Amino acid sequence: MSEKTATLENWATQRINFAQISPYLNNMRDFICETEIEGLLRSQTDVPASCVHDIIQKALAIETLSLKEAAILLNVRDKDLLSRMREAALAIKTKVYDNRIVTFAPFYTGNLCVNNCLYCGFRSGNPAINRKLLTVDEIKNEIEIIAGSIGHKRIIAVYGEHPESGIDYIISTMSAIYNTKIRTKNNSSASIRRVNVNAAPMQVEELRALKKAGIGTYQVFQETYHHKTYESIHPRGTVKSNYRWRLYSMHRAIEAGIDDVGIGALFGLYDWKFEIMGLLAHARELEKTFGIGPHTVSFPRLEPALNTPFAKASKYLLNDETFKKVITVLRLCIPYAGMILTARENASMRRDCFSLGITQTDASSKIGIGSYSQAGCGQKGNKQQFLLADTRSLDEVVLELAQDGFITSFCTAGYRCERTGKCIMKLLRSGQEGKFCKLNAVLTFREWLDDFASPRTKEIAENIINREISQIKSMMPDIFPAFMNYYERITQGERDLYF
Ligand code: SF4
Repeated sequence: MSEKTATLENWATQRINFAQISPYLNNMRDFICETEIEGLLRSQTDVPASCVHDIIQKALAIETLSLKEAAILLNVRDKDLLSRMREAALAIKTKVYDNRIVTFAPFYTGNLCVNNCLYCGFRSGNPAINRKLLTVDEIKNEIEIIAGSIGHKRIIAVYGEHPESGIDYIISTMSAIYNTKIRTKNNSSASIRRVNVNAAPMQVEELRALKKAGIGTYQVFQETYHHKTYESIHPRGTVKSNYRWRLYSMHRAIEAGIDDVGIGALFGLYDWKFEIMGLLAHARELEKTFGIGPHTVSFPRLEPALNTPFAKASKYLLNDETFKKVITVLRLCIPYAGMILTARENASMRRDCFSLGITQTDASSKIGIGSYSQAGCGQKGNKQQFLLADTRSLDEVVLELAQDGFITSFCTAGYRCERTGKCIMKLLRSGQEGKFCKLNAVLTFREWLDDFASPRTKEIAENIINREISQIKSMMPDIFPAFMNYYERITQGERDLYF
């Protein structure tokens, strides 16, 4: 074994703190009970339509469903009931989040990783990948493009699990991102206002430091909730092979004061129905333990990656129709949560899925390391984790959303106004957050249209803005004068005004 490999292995063995898992176990068991999940999926078939309608009503009242109710929905095959479920999915999203779609940019900071997940292009055993970790200066160059040329206000910064991209690196890069201030071509100020982080499971002390550094949402995806599958695709001896260290990462985050967390599963690794039950069990466990559920749920589909045969050969890959059912059922199961659909999906799938209750999406995305600042840089398999299916610009996506009646929101106010944790749960369940969504969506959309939109997009989007303003006037007459004051100031060049 080389000295470098020995050092990495030594570092990896110190990552897991068992004392930070055991307090959350119940009789030494975790909260994913496979016997229960599989039993429900087997038994809850062919229930009366009235029962399905009752479950839909419960979801419309923004109540989290039970595992049994989820199993019933997952087994629905009747076309009329499925159609009713899809209508309800959109109604729930509109009730909780209004008709806006929040946008963000994915930002991969590097591709060093000590793990060796069979499905991932970045796995340590893949010699076909060019390894790179961005320096602070390179990070600033990337942010200048993301915030200054494209116009994003929020990013999800993605970090591999490696000693060189540990907590100190994460904090210094977050600081570099927040402190990069740009002037746009018409001399407005631009910057990233919210840094969400997707990183490996951390220890409580590290999570406290992340909170202090101003993290937005902390995301860790379980990949698969099925114990045996998890074990088979995460080679023994790697940090990631410890299922429970990952499963309880959100518990540790909330314990450390990060009350805005995102969960997810990588669909295609195991049976899709089981993964939905796993996500729901996770949400219910967080609600039960802390009174706080996940702020976002992600459900990426497994995509091809360079020199990674597993990604194409999995027997659990989903077709498009099944994937739409995944979104519909998840929307009903955890009705208060934000739902993230990414540019892994192609443009026409994305268009279809927005009407199933999606709340967040990315655009102008580049996931190669350092690719935003490399002009004309297309997708490069040897620099990215997988290949994107939708490489359209943010302007194109905004235009299509506007044509379909959605307003694109660049809002980052919730986190900065401390509408997180229990506070946001209450606002989401009562439909109150949608009010803030509407106001801030219009204000931030106005900023983006004036600073970054093409003439065509601006023209179409004006109709959406005007419609939203008249709705605000009739729905919120008390707040309308203050809103219009902010709106006028933004049209005159002021930035970052929010409720
Ligand atoms: S999925 Fe994540 S942890 Fe696994 S090899 Fe890829 S980058 Fe590393």
